[in-house]
Amino acid sequence: MTRYAIPAWEHTSLPVVGSDERFPVRRIYCVGRNYAAHARELGNDERDPPFFFMKPADAIVQDGTTFPYPVATDNLHHEVELVVALKSGGKDIPADKALDHVFGYAVGIDLTRRDIQDVAKKMARPWDMAKGFDASAPCGALRRATETDHPSSARITLKINGEVRQDGDIDAMIWNIPDTIAYLSGLIELKPGDLIFTGTPEGVGPVKRGDKLEATVAGLGDLSVSVA
Ligand code: MN
Repeated sequence: MTRYAIPAWEHTSLPVVGSDERFPVRRIYCVGRNYAAHARELGNDERDPPFFFMKPADAIVQDGTTFPYPVATDNLHHEVELVVALKSGGKDIPADKALDHVFGYAVGIDLTRRDIQDVAKKMARPWDMAKGFDASAPCGALRRATETDHPSSARITLKINGEVRQDGDIDAMIWNIPDTIAYLSGLIELKPGDLIFTGTPEGVGPVKRGDKLEATVAGLGDLSVSVA
């Protein structure tokens, strides 16, 4: 057994619906802008390539909990997203084999310090401090793909204090789940335990202290978290 020089910590993990087993989270990849405001044009060649950023695994906020309003921002934004959890990985995974690697699905919120991101965009700097801060990744329990099947359409919503702020369908993704896994696995070797936040539909906006956020992807996930 490895002897560590300081006490080692446990994996961040997520509950699995209908099970007492938990899913260990390795890394969190997020897709940048992945929903078109209008129906996407036919033809893959018309799409810009997807781009990715990351959050640390321990940025996960568990369902049913309250997280502190983050430091260093006056403009925290919500982005509700379908989350894909991988049970296996690989390099250069073909799109037609990509779903074989999916353990299950959940709904998450890609919390964003929009003011920091705006500066980063303007200055052509990295997004890490806009996206990968503490408690930036609320995520609900995972549902096994063996039970949900692999969705190509499902309503995705986010409510704040009971009021609908985002209401879309995952069928509007520019890069769907198999294409996203295929593309990302051409950039890095995907691993078991990796999560992919797949981008957000229209309607992003500010989150304030004391807000209650409720997110759903129909049949795939529910999440309720509050801001202290
Ligand atoms: Mn996002």
